Amino acid sequence: MDTPETVASQSGDNHFEVIIVGAGISGIGSAYHLQKNCADKRFAILEMKDTFGGTWETHKYPGVRSDSDLYTFGYEFKPWVGHPIAAGEEILKYMGEVIEENDLARHIRYGHRITACRWSSAENLWHLDVTRLTDGEQLQFTCGFLWMCQGYYDHENPYLPDWPGMDQYQGQLVHAQQWDPGTDYAGKRVLVIGSGATAATVIPEFAKTAKHVTMLQRSPTYFYCDENRNELADRLRLIGIDEATVHRVVRADIIYKQFETTHLSESDPEAMIEMLRDQVRSYVGDDFEFEPHFVPRYRPWQQRLAFCPQADIFKAAVDGKLTVVTDTLETFTEKGVRTSSGEEIEADIIVAATGFNLLVMGGIPFEIDGEPVNWHDTVNYRGMMFTGVPNMVWVFGYFRASWTLRVDMLGELVCRLLKNMDERGAKRVEVSLRDEDRDMEILPWISEDEFNPNYLMRDLDQLPSRGSKPEWRHNQDYWVERNQIPATDLNAAEFVYDGQRGAGGRSNSG
Ligand SMILES: Cc1cc2nc3c(=O)[nH]c(=O)nc-3n(C[C@H](O)[C@H](O)[C@H](O)COP(=O)(O)OP(=O)(O)OC[C@H]3O[C@@H](n4cnc5c(N)ncnc54)[C@H](O)[C@@H]3O)c2cc1C
Repeated sequence: MDTPETVASQSGDNHFEVIIVGAGISGIGSAYHLQKNCADKRFAILEMKDTFGGTWETHKYPGVRSDSDLYTFGYEFKPWVGHPIAAGEEILKYMGEVIEENDLARHIRYGHRITACRWSSAENLWHLDVTRLTDGEQLQFTCGFLWMCQGYYDHENPYLPDWPGMDQYQGQLVHAQQWDPGTDYAGKRVLVIGSGATAATVIPEFAKTAKHVTMLQRSPTYFYCDENRNELADRLRLIGIDEATVHRVVRADIIYKQFETTHLSESDPEAMIEMLRDQVRSYVGDDFEFEPHFVPRYRPWQQRLAFCPQADIFKAAVDGKLTVVTDTLETFTEKGVRTSSGEEIEADIIVAATGFNLLVMGGIPFEIDGEPVNWHDTVNYRGMMFTGVPNMVWVFGYFRASWTLRVDMLGELVCRLLKNMDERGAKRVEVSLRDEDRDMEILPWISEDEFNPNYLMRDLDQLPSRGSKPEWRHNQDYWVERNQIPATDLNAAEFVYDGQRGAGGRSNSG
């Protein structure tokens, strides 16, 4: 029953049935599904930046682009009509069109930073502390359901190791995440520290006008080299197929190919490595020497493959515009850096392509009835709900497949969950371990053997835990989830509505 306090807090402008946190590709996609499936729900998207885009708004380094093709990184519901790999600007334009075509702008409150989320069981409400960044005003929002789309890393503080001697360096040191597009690197010596997707993107761009580029890597990365075009899409367009069909068919084809390469990586990593090398050779010749700078220590797919259009990074190396050094950085010097083996690398600009800092739930402190939530103490249900945390979902995408595939899939599931609550007249839903789960082994979020980029390994203990049963983990295999997630029985025993465990029987909603 509503208390006078509840009624008061619900009557204000800042009460919503659903609040979506973040206007990145997850938040905008989730809002689309919510509006389509639950048209009667009053909702808002709170975004701390002054515009939409998230990742694609934060990163402004030269050549910033997706690694994934946009047929799968784009939404299921909006055809992608450009080249498969898209520039950051193109992704922003696409998202802008989604907002406009679906009249979503009226729901977004920009410049609203959430600083705390507190659940009250007495009211069945989330209370959000929010700072309005334009004037510093402290606002209170309430909602019945929280849809967390805040991403997984710190947009404001990138990962910059504390290297010795950094203060001695007289040149310009910048982290790629904080790159100022006005920076002039023409004719300069540029050192890029790192070897992942960001390094692979910026290096060919720098190589066009810089005096010389050096890449200092601790260890090599796998690169996937190809043309930035999709033959099937080109063919379908040529024969007059409409864009909606092109999107659907090409998306299915790419997903299938990704399935094949993912499983080849696991079942026969050597064959996968040879295939990746053959792609490189097709651009830079059969005598290209992979040892030692292009031979990673891990198996392909234990980390995301970095895309290289037309093997551009390899071409820069072959043309002498890029020098690769595989070594550890011992210290910064006045003029550059010195490596552990004593090599001095001089540079006018040093770009740290060292990745990001993981940030669980945007670093927002959460409380349940006055008790702080320690995410590591919770067990995740399919990477989207967490034991002990009611009326909340987190949209966490795929690492190996396109993130957005999961945004669309969870969008539909969350709407089904909201409708199921309404049908049951429930004000609260949470997941809870069943009796048969009590002895289940509780493990870290992901196994190191499965996927092990540094940002995850550094902060694994910040993430929620997983159980040894399939439903109590975030399965990174889209091909398994695309059957399992739509088939989720929302009345199964792991779902608890208003304190009552589901008793089985698939909900009819949706
Ligand atoms: C450079 C780069 C390239 C990538 N390329 C790919 C790719 O090709 N394919 C792929 O699948 N994945 C890629 N990823 C992973 C990528 O981050 C995701 O695919 C996707 O963009 C994440 O979208 P998101 O909306 O979930 O989160 P984000 O893009 O991180 O957006 C989250 C939003 O939430 C807002 N927010 C956070 N905290 C708060 C708060 N407290 N209050 C209010 N608002 C808040 C942020 O300001 C931001 O706008 C890439 C990541 C990076 C860094």
